[in-house]
Amino acid sequence: MIATLLAVEGETREVFEDINLFGKVVFYVLSFIATALFLWGSWQRITKYRRGRPAGRIRRPAAAPSSNGSAPTVADTVPSNGQPSKLHTVGTIAANSTVAKRDRSMGIAHFFIFWGFITLFIGTVILTIDEDIVKIATRQFGEERSFFKGVFYAIYSLVLDTMGFAALIALVYMAARRGLFHLPQLDYRRAEEPAGGYDRRQYQLGDQLFIGLLGLVLVTGFLHEGFRIRASGFPDFEIWSPVGWLIAKGVSGAGVTLAGSDTIRTVIWWVHAVLALSFVAYIPYSKAMHMLTDAANLVTHDPTTSRRLPAPDPAAGHLGYQTVEDFTWKELLDFDACTKCGRCHVVCPAAAAGAPLSPRDLILDLRQWASTSSGNVTLLDSERRPEPTGPLVTDGTLAGDVIRADTLWSCTTCMACVAACPVGIEHVPTIVELRRSLVEAGTMEPSLQDALQNIAQKGNSFGKSARQRAKWTKGLDFTITDARKEPVRYLWFVGDFASFDDRLQSLSQTFAQILHGAGVDFGILYDGERNAGNDVRRVGEEGLFEMLVEQNMEQLTAAEFDEIVTTDPHTLNTLRNEYPGFGLDKPVKHYTEVLADLIEAGELDVGALGSTATYHDPCYLARYNELTEAPRRVLRAIGCDVVEMPRNRDNTFCCGAGGGRIWMDDSGLTERPSENRIREAAELDVEMFVVACPKDFTMYTDAAKTTGHDASLRVVDVIELVAEALDRQPALGAAEI
Ligand code: SF4
Ligand code: SF4
Repeated sequence: MIATLLAVEGETREVFEDINLFGKVVFYVLSFIATALFLWGSWQRITKYRRGRPAGRIRRPAAAPSSNGSAPTVADTVPSNGQPSKLHTVGTIAANSTVAKRDRSMGIAHFFIFWGFITLFIGTVILTIDEDIVKIATRQFGEERSFFKGVFYAIYSLVLDTMGFAALIALVYMAARRGLFHLPQLDYRRAEEPAGGYDRRQYQLGDQLFIGLLGLVLVTGFLHEGFRIRASGFPDFEIWSPVGWLIAKGVSGAGVTLAGSDTIRTVIWWVHAVLALSFVAYIPYSKAMHMLTDAANLVTHDPTTSRRLPAPDPAAGHLGYQTVEDFTWKELLDFDACTKCGRCHVVCPAAAAGAPLSPRDLILDLRQWASTSSGNVTLLDSERRPEPTGPLVTDGTLAGDVIRADTLWSCTTCMACVAACPVGIEHVPTIVELRRSLVEAGTMEPSLQDALQNIAQKGNSFGKSARQRAKWTKGLDFTITDARKEPVRYLWFVGDFASFDDRLQSLSQTFAQILHGAGVDFGILYDGERNAGNDVRRVGEEGLFEMLVEQNMEQLTAAEFDEIVTTDPHTLNTLRNEYPGFGLDKPVKHYTEVLADLIEAGELDVGALGSTATYHDPCYLARYNELTEAPRRVLRAIGCDVVEMPRNRDNTFCCGAGGGRIWMDDSGLTERPSENRIREAAELDVEMFVVACPKDFTMYTDAAKTTGHDASLRVVDVIELVAEALDRQPALGAAEI
């Protein structure tokens, strides 16, 4: 092998073999036009991004004062952990790991296309350097020199042939996925529009053109190589271009003469060159743009996205988004980064439930609207409508006309779309900004309006008096410390549902008994607590959120405690991630973390239940806060055999209650997300469906009944199971509230 390699010393090929001076001039003129079109299209896109607001993604000041000089807001604060280094992000892009996540075959195919074309691009650059710089420069000094020969040329040929061939195979696989496999994520039909109400054939044609162009560039490249090798009489060193060599053998076997091969290779050279240059020109106007936007989007992706929402821009003069200038440049980049892969579409609980929302379509509609509004030219990359409605509307309101209000209200803010998106698109903050516009315009369901009014007036969504917040404690045989009066280790932020909902008050009592029994020093805020505001903020009611934070912070600041514990994942999210922007500097734990630690420290003497169970990860624990193991640690410690549902941990499926959906009407859904989830669990051979969220307990208890699984599948909270494991009768129903 090495001997063969050394034997190629001095061997090379002519880049412009058989291309005369006129041909060279034509080629360079075409190259210039292609480059100019590429630059013009790219500049158009950049001009659009420049219309957006700053996003703070390039340089992140830590806990800097806000731009208007006031105290730091959530938008100004920066997480101290969870931020991957840029090096890590570049590694992620290089490994294509976000593409491979949950779809390994797609990840492998994309890896070879990605690296195949990068290798070919580098090969072209090397060739250009040799041809247009080294040769021309050395010619000025008398003797033309070239490094594109010998061993270098042999290795170059082998690497480019191998990588190009791997990319071609991967492209065939990609084409088959789209053409033959009929994957639901690649079905572009819109759920909320009548079949004839829109035309998305351009999207399909654009996909085919993209894959087809890439494939043709490779095929013509290989064909040219084959005919060139045949025309030059199979010189030994060309074995280092194995694909071309095999094609040359085939051409020869088919009886193509040397002269015929010579003519054909010239024709193919031109076809290949025109296709390659056309592709370069086509990139910024089409789906191919994702080759550039996706890398930029991943590098500037905020890993804390959604868990801490940005405060409204004080300079905007209005709440929410109305114009292109209201978006950040990162959001405008998000829209262009979408590859229409549909991964977000198939994990969205709203889409699955027949609600008029698909995160993919939302992003595509916003892209079309922003591009049209910015005068961007696109090629086979837009949807057409017989009437000027939907994404073609440029003179209507953004939230309401371009994006329907019921689309925006359908979102549960579960973040499944964000977690699934391989290119770092951040759907949730954009949806919330658009909701802020709806809230400002007063466009919301009466039931939601009532809930928000209750929270504004009474501090809770149940509309009950603040004095009743701690009424559930009356059924206990001990008094819970008032954390406003005495220092405690744990400040238990109980939350609305665990405080006021009749079915959940007994769970709160049980948790209090467990803590009390373990000798844990804890207290609550009694009537000083208000709704924490997580869902209020995600509904888009920013003013009310800030009022709640102010009221709660007043109480929290007055109390003396080491850590906060809560049973509600929604409350946990805002306290842990958003309240620090308003001055909270204490750790916030979910109750399962506290229970797991107590059990493992031997503070809770639990026995083994010996039951089979599946555990449902709440979105606000698993996806928002990467908290998946503590509940499982507890279940294992109390002797439960945990059987996982197919969708678990950060791939969990939403119950349908988040983002304020619990306050909205869900009667129009084809199947409630909670029912979908119960059916998934019912496929397993388990006795219990375990939850760790008060809202989940309510949602799934109902869903078990409506799906007819309530007799075979017991919906139970971790709290009840721990109480049972302590060989203690849970207080469910025991207390007179
Ligand atoms: S956050 Fe959840 S409900 Fe909202 S668009 Fe994304 S996947 Fe759908
Ligand atoms: S938003 Fe992301 S996940 Fe959804 S279709 Fe676009 S690229 Fe795919």
